[in-house]
Amino acid sequence: MNFDSICVHGAKDPNNKTGALAVPIYQSATFAHPGVGQSTGYDYARVQNPTREPLERLVAALEGGREALAFASGMASLDAFMYLLKKNDHIIASDDLYGGTVRLFDSLALRAGLETTYVDYSDLTALEKTLRPTTQMVFVETPTNPMMKVADIAAIRAVLPKKVLLVVDNTFLTPYFQKPLALGADLVLHSGTKYLAGHNDTLAGFLVVNDPELAEKLRFITKTVGTGLAPFDSFLLIRSLKTLALRLEKSQANAIKVANWLSQNPKVSKVYYPAFADPKSLEIQKKQTTGFGAMISFLVTTEETAIKALEKVKLILYAESLGGVETLITYPYLQTHADLPVERRLALGINERLLRLSLGVEDPNDLIQDLEQALA
Ligand SMILES: *Cc1c(COP(=O)(O)O)cnc(C)c1O
Repeated sequence: MNFDSICVHGAKDPNNKTGALAVPIYQSATFAHPGVGQSTGYDYARVQNPTREPLERLVAALEGGREALAFASGMASLDAFMYLLKKNDHIIASDDLYGGTVRLFDSLALRAGLETTYVDYSDLTALEKTLRPTTQMVFVETPTNPMMKVADIAAIRAVLPKKVLLVVDNTFLTPYFQKPLALGADLVLHSGTKYLAGHNDTLAGFLVVNDPELAEKLRFITKTVGTGLAPFDSFLLIRSLKTLALRLEKSQANAIKVANWLSQNPKVSKVYYPAFADPKSLEIQKKQTTGFGAMISFLVTTEETAIKALEKVKLILYAESLGGVETLITYPYLQTHADLPVERRLALGINERLLRLSLGVEDPNDLIQDLEQALA
């Protein structure tokens, strides 16, 4: 099956005897045993649940991975691989990263004895120089949030020793546009809250792996800490993923229109959209992605224009998050990246004039009209 068909047909209820098209919500915490030492395959829902399981198979198939694990949120899936590491291990991460990930690395992970160094992956010699004998994990977001910098996943893999886990947060592009496992990543991470759930109504997270040993370690972790996705949320994810391809095509088409319009607007001084990147980044993207996605960051001429735009938008909603059918506008400086020290925010280009748009599936002319009045 090809991608679009997997989206629609990739989750099947293994116990279906009724002909129902939808995977039911198996709202059961525990499962009766047919006999001593026997199991139906399900024992206790923290370990596995028959609604979560088909969802995990579906996401594994979409990413081209052997196994996927569904978590209660993106942060819960990030926290899970912290347990793969041990005291004094070293992590390398993109300098431009989701704020919550930085918070995890710089607080709880640090307290557990894991040190993180942030580097700009556009310079691979800088990455090589940052490697230590204790480096166990390299963490990549591409394109980055919110500056849309592109990292070459295969080239990063090529400079890493084999033992170093390469983790790619694929939230922004999803497997519809980018499949990091095929490019050499060991682990793919998702905030399923974003495009995978797609309707701004459910939190979810995923880890996808190819190595069975790594998968088993992660299963042990979720069984032990109990961060798996609930049956009802698993049902919602299966339902949402049926339209993943459709939603992304439409959101990307909207993003291209809006990005072009923004770049003509006198109140906008710079547009960060992967399609507008420098030639080297465009070359990387041509090789590793099949699309540019639907996230845009842009600089307006003054702080006042930025604040006013956030307050004046009507159809577009001023809210944190991304990847849903509703178009959202965010202020990274005071929202998603507020936990970063000011100097670090400013050094990355996250200043008082930067706005971020997550394009939904509305009519693009309505979105442009709304931005026009908001920027006026
Ligand atoms: C939102 C987000 C996360 C965190 O996921 P939650 O589902 O909010 O816990 C991690 N990485 C990226 C890129 C995100 O956008």
